[in-house]
Amino acid sequence: MRWSLRSLLYCCMAAVLLALFIWHQFFRYADPSPINGRLPNHVRPLHYDVQLTLLPDAEDFSGVATIELQLDQRIDALYLHAQALRFNRIESSDDLQNWHPASAVEESEDGLTRIQLSRSLAPGTAHVRLSYQGRYTANQEGLWRQQINGDWYVFNQFNTIFARRAIPGFDEPGIRARIDLSVTAPTWHHVVSTTSLLETSVLGNGRKRVHFVRTPPISLHQLNISVGPFDIVAGPILKPNEFRRQNLPIRAVTVKGQGARSQFALAHIGPMVEAAENYFGMPFPFEKLDVLAVPHATEGVLEHPGAINLRDRLMLFDQHNLATSQRFFLSYFTHGLLHHWVGNLVAMEWWNDVWIYEGVVEWLTYRLLHERYPALGFDIERQQNKQQAIQIDLNEVRRLQPGVIDSSKEIHASYSAQATLKSASLIHMLERFIREDRFQSGFRAFFARHAYDLAGTEELYHAVTDSVAHPLLASEFDRFINEPGVPLIHFERQCQNNRLSLILRQKILPTAQTTQTAWTIPVCARFHDQQNALQCQVINQSEQLWQTAQPCEAVVLPNADGAGYYRWSLATDEWQRLITGSAHYSSVEALEMAENLAQSYRQQQLPSEPFWRLAARLSSQSAAVVTESFIDEAQFALYRLSRDAKATRQQLRERFAGAAQPWTPTIREWMALDLRLPLLREQLLQTMQKPKAFADRSLNSDPVRVAVWLETQPEQVDSVLNHLCRENQGDIRNDLVQAIGNIRRPEVHARMIDKLSHPCLSSNEQWRLLNDWLQHPPTQFATFSYLRNHFPAIRERQPTFRIADLPPMLAQFCDADIWAQAKTFLLEHTADIVGHLDAILSAEQQTQKCIEMKAAFTERALSSQQP
Ligand SMILES: [Zn+2]
Repeated sequence: MRWSLRSLLYCCMAAVLLALFIWHQFFRYADPSPINGRLPNHVRPLHYDVQLTLLPDAEDFSGVATIELQLDQRIDALYLHAQALRFNRIESSDDLQNWHPASAVEESEDGLTRIQLSRSLAPGTAHVRLSYQGRYTANQEGLWRQQINGDWYVFNQFNTIFARRAIPGFDEPGIRARIDLSVTAPTWHHVVSTTSLLETSVLGNGRKRVHFVRTPPISLHQLNISVGPFDIVAGPILKPNEFRRQNLPIRAVTVKGQGARSQFALAHIGPMVEAAENYFGMPFPFEKLDVLAVPHATEGVLEHPGAINLRDRLMLFDQHNLATSQRFFLSYFTHGLLHHWVGNLVAMEWWNDVWIYEGVVEWLTYRLLHERYPALGFDIERQQNKQQAIQIDLNEVRRLQPGVIDSSKEIHASYSAQATLKSASLIHMLERFIREDRFQSGFRAFFARHAYDLAGTEELYHAVTDSVAHPLLASEFDRFINEPGVPLIHFERQCQNNRLSLILRQKILPTAQTTQTAWTIPVCARFHDQQNALQCQVINQSEQLWQTAQPCEAVVLPNADGAGYYRWSLATDEWQRLITGSAHYSSVEALEMAENLAQSYRQQQLPSEPFWRLAARLSSQSAAVVTESFIDEAQFALYRLSRDAKATRQQLRERFAGAAQPWTPTIREWMALDLRLPLLREQLLQTMQKPKAFADRSLNSDPVRVAVWLETQPEQVDSVLNHLCRENQGDIRNDLVQAIGNIRRPEVHARMIDKLSHPCLSSNEQWRLLNDWLQHPPTQFATFSYLRNHFPAIRERQPTFRIADLPPMLAQFCDADIWAQAKTFLLEHTADIVGHLDAILSAEQQTQKCIEMKAAFTERALSSQQP
């Protein structure tokens, strides 16, 4: 009985499977659907003809897109992307003479659209023509517009999957086609795009139509479309060189009246193009290069081929804060420039590849900039970026290389700080360990092989690791990518035969468990005795003896030049030897020491007394930037542990009285606003007491000065906002908003929080204030309450990628009850939060860690009577 029942069951299952198979075979032919969120590849675009009508002072735009298709089989329906577009007419044709009506159904929220044909199309080439209308978006996803000084401008933000809100098409990074674009716009406006202007025709009615040169094969999201009464300033033409046969025209594009402020940019674009050509051994791959300064852009840089968009304040600035402004421009611009090879010339197939494309670009940005501008501190910034990546690695358990990406949420999440910073740091570590010229020739070969083609993670990863001569390192390196966490190496000294030996013990943070099989890590250490020696070693065991060639008394810095992507620890007396010895270390190495010293203290491996003493010593003998590494510990002592804030402030002021000058802006802010250093506050206030002082730009461009002033004169909030409403220069606005975000005193903050919805604040500025206030314990809770009560209005103005940042922003309370409220809030809005479950889990772990640390430190303080 049992057996016959089972046979019957098998028989039925077989019949069902057969039926499914036949059904699938039959329908797959007629209607192949998208698989895993990707369009089926039997229908491919060969060419787009896109005609847009963009009148910036209207609320809607319209367009006609004619797409030439290559069909591998007969179809009576096809899928493409079109989101929130209203179709007037859709037609298909196989001869461009006879057009047959078709209809569209948007099948998913993210714009997957089925085009149902009235007459099937045979294999070969065919066309679909879609005429439609759309609306400019409020959160800059797609085509958006803004009014500056009374004039309207249109810009686009198509990254990652927002081209489909402006042009119906095949909106995937690996699907590329040539595009002919024409735009109807007011005659007095300029239109800027990826390629040069081909011709202009006047239409009457105050309108014109501009046609652009056909693009090389690009994906839809790479197209730039910008309209408005721009200032266009031509820069010096870049002459041909050993790689490039043609001149390269360079222009700056700004809103009306701001062109003259692009001088620094125009002087430095050409030399950076040449530096990049020199590295790749190839010409700049497009025919011209425009750089647009876009006010209030939510993305710092968008690397459309031939027309890079930068947030305006990154490109337009005057004399004040010059070094910082220059550094910002150079790093964002160079990032966008290098994408012309890494991403535009050679393109990624799918969003899984974002991490390595971003990593290569970020790594090379800092490499080229440090080489060309050694005085601007790009090496320090690179070190800070690495520490930030490690910090993220300690807080969220996530591997660098994503698994399957098959939903729009995962596509949005593929861009993250970690994807960029960690992979750039890993490449820097590899390059540091091997010969740089080998690395460069590996890259040159890769770009020569894949130019105008696609290459996935595999190919690009091999271009990086194949030049690593060490076989074990090359084969084992991907554990850094496929496993979460960051190695911690404890260094212990031994003296053997008058030579220094090191015992290295490896664990993987954040769990700090010894792994079953050790990671393979390239370690470079600096040794100081009479000389200053550098020695490298690949370690690949949980405990390993390294017999160095150094004398026993040599002092060891376990991560030379801070280039290794690992944390390290030492015994207390070894820290003492390293920091109080006479050896001189670079600022980058001092930063590396400071970060690891703070980490040892946080992990309770280093007691309070030696930590604060060594921190003060290191701060006084190194560049000011090193002191920044200890601010988190000081804030923790002040806001989380202290029962007597006044006494703790006094103690911290004394500890850091000797910190090296001149202070960085971050240290100044900390000293004036958290430690409330009386002398500094008085100095700042005195300058603000002059009549009409606030109208003086040299005074109000200092965000710390204005914040201290506002803390004593809260009634001035409205005058600062009025000022903001009238101000059109991005850099000045940025200073004012930063000043408001610097407010710490809860009673003053309470007067300002309602201004978060003020119409004069752009969505960037609103988000910046939210972020700043959520970071500082005195203003955290009130800001969270505001966010909770006003979320729908905030959500409407903010792009998706920002909302995804909410979990880490709300992970800073260090309090179980408040976290429970924050978690409830986040869970109510998971539909808006990209990658929500992982992110909320990480935020919870981070909060838990803070609570545990607070308990451990409190207990230790009680037992030793030490704050
Ligand atoms: Zn990028």
